[in-house]
Amino acid sequence: MENIRLDTSVQYLKGVGPKMYELLNKLGIYSVKDLIEYYPRAYEDRTRLVKIDEFEKDKSVLFIATVVRPVTVAHARGKKIISTVVTDESGRLAFLTWFNQVYIKDKLKEGMSYLFYGKVSSVSPSRATLESCSIYDVMQLDKIQGLYPIYSLTAGVTQNYLFKLITNLIIDNGILLKDIFETEFRKKYGLAEINYAVRNIHFPKDFSMVETARNRIIFEELFLFQLALLHMRDNNLEYVKTNIYKDLDCSEFLKIIPFELTNAQKKVVEQIKDDLSKNVVMNRLVQGDVGSGKTMVAAIAMYLAVKNGYQAALMAPTTILANQHFLELSGYFEKLNIKVEIITSSTTKKQKEKIIERLKNNEIDILIGTHSIIEDNIEFNNLGLVVTDEQHRFGVKQRMKLSNKGKIVDTLVMTATPIPRSLAIVLYGDLDLSVIDELPPGRKPVDTFVVNDSYNQRVYNFLRKNIDEGRQVYVVCPLVEENEELDLNSVEKLYEEYKKEFKEYNVAILHGKMKNKEKDEIMQDFKANNINILISTTVIEVGISVPNATVMVIENADRFGLAALHQLRGRVGRGSAASYCILKSNNKSAIARERLDIMRKSNDGFLIAKKDLELRGPGDFFGIRQSGMPEFKLANLLTDVKVLERTQQAVRDIIEQDKELNLEKNKKIKEALYEKYGEQLQNIVG
Ligand code: ADP
Ligand code: MG
Repeated sequence: MENIRLDTSVQYLKGVGPKMYELLNKLGIYSVKDLIEYYPRAYEDRTRLVKIDEFEKDKSVLFIATVVRPVTVAHARGKKIISTVVTDESGRLAFLTWFNQVYIKDKLKEGMSYLFYGKVSSVSPSRATLESCSIYDVMQLDKIQGLYPIYSLTAGVTQNYLFKLITNLIIDNGILLKDIFETEFRKKYGLAEINYAVRNIHFPKDFSMVETARNRIIFEELFLFQLALLHMRDNNLEYVKTNIYKDLDCSEFLKIIPFELTNAQKKVVEQIKDDLSKNVVMNRLVQGDVGSGKTMVAAIAMYLAVKNGYQAALMAPTTILANQHFLELSGYFEKLNIKVEIITSSTTKKQKEKIIERLKNNEIDILIGTHSIIEDNIEFNNLGLVVTDEQHRFGVKQRMKLSNKGKIVDTLVMTATPIPRSLAIVLYGDLDLSVIDELPPGRKPVDTFVVNDSYNQRVYNFLRKNIDEGRQVYVVCPLVEENEELDLNSVEKLYEEYKKEFKEYNVAILHGKMKNKEKDEIMQDFKANNINILISTTVIEVGISVPNATVMVIENADRFGLAALHQLRGRVGRGSAASYCILKSNNKSAIARERLDIMRKSNDGFLIAKKDLELRGPGDFFGIRQSGMPEFKLANLLTDVKVLERTQQAVRDIIEQDKELNLEKNKKIKEALYEKYGEQLQNIVG
């Protein structure tokens, strides 16, 4: 077709029919631009000519060799088998075969040399064998030699097909991207021009070219990402605040709680006090392993906020968790005459209206809730502190929205998921980091076992023994698919199995599709020990505390991320009794075993999370997906730390000079920013 533009739909390209169009959509390719930016995930190395005596089994090789026997055609099992023997100066023989491609008989001439490319299927001291090699004229060496892109595919789309489409656009049609960086900018940060980069990411001659290209492309991705984040948290960060706390005495509160703070908790409380007494907004991330007592630290911060005349808000990722925080904390706060309320999706409209009214009149000091508390109609009278619990569960967007409820608020985010400092800074700004690196006394590590289905009976017996000793059991079933019906099916099936097996006991079920009220009732029953075995989906993942539950069985454990498994396991081992976690999995793959083995060997959430991060990549991990942030096409937040640091500097430079990006030279950057992150930016600002 004529006039191909970047926004042209790929359905109008030659060779793309309606069916192919759908398949390309599956890969996220809709427009010509998408296609050009569909970067290879790896490369096939055809840069080196390999001698036959260097061949290794299963390696793909590019080699020049001479045909030393006439080409023969044989028939076997309905196939035509074409074969010949070649050799090179190494003196070793290579036996080559093809299937059904009879024309090869005429193509290859005895005594002539050709360029071959193919995968070695076997090697012995005397010979190598290869099947279905590609054959080229030796003169083509220059053209053939190089790196070949390997694209991620879906069934029905081949490497070759994608390669041809992309070649056609970039080489034959000369489609160009707009470079958002001016020459001066590129020079300053050592960046290639975008179209040079794009050519070399798809068709590199060698790996150094890939590196140059990659650098350019990920620089842009990370630069825009950071610029967007900075714009989003904008008003909040660097502002000098007026709510400097004068009264930092929390001894009254400490008298009420039934235990002494651990040294780690004390240390973090001091850091928070220090923040609160300064004239700079607090922006602190508290990391602490599951069960390390983050809630109490947050409670103390909220207590101080109220004591100094401000309201505080605590946002938790699930209703159950919000309820639990409310139950625990309101008990303490009541004694001090501090008014705590809760808003979740199960709060009725009438109750909610009342809460909103009282909140505005400053009749509520602390509001606890799920993301319901960031709804637009919720207004505070004098919000001074926002705490978000298990922050990795929330998107950037939701957090920003809550912070925007007060003019300039102090923020405390709590997480059990360790984040490397460099990344934390990128994602949350110049925040300060506190670590609670100590568990309350008396905690015992949870004994962890990995078993397959052949152990079912033994597992059942083990559960019986524990229940008969008065203990309770969690059985957790993973989401099978992102399909609620199917997921529901699988918990329900499990529930039936357990009911049948444990007729004499109380077995209950808990899942995300139940009404909040039902869920709460079940949790109350479980807490009261009226339920022996609770079968559930991961709704119990975060924060639930039932000390008498000492056994956790996790079905299909290989389907969870390690950090999630650790969180789940943290539901047991909360009391003084010995606790157990049984990870069930029939997955025999080496990786699955390795992952579960990490769980068996370690109770250290930080170590586990680090491994998890390595195994899963950072996308899931940081909730970038949940926040609606696009994933990067090439950049990797974990491994591209160097570029990340450089972009950070570049973002600072540009903001310093032209915060609103109004200068002519930054026009294209602004456009790109809004094209990519406009929706998020609008939501925050608007
Ligand atoms: P997490 O850090 O996982 O959010 P929690 O705040 O839920 O942990 O605390 C886990 C349990 O430990 C709670 O029941 C809490 O009351 C208790 N706890 C917190 N701090 C201490 C402490 N210093 N000594 C004893 N128990 C504590
Ligand atoms: Mg917690």
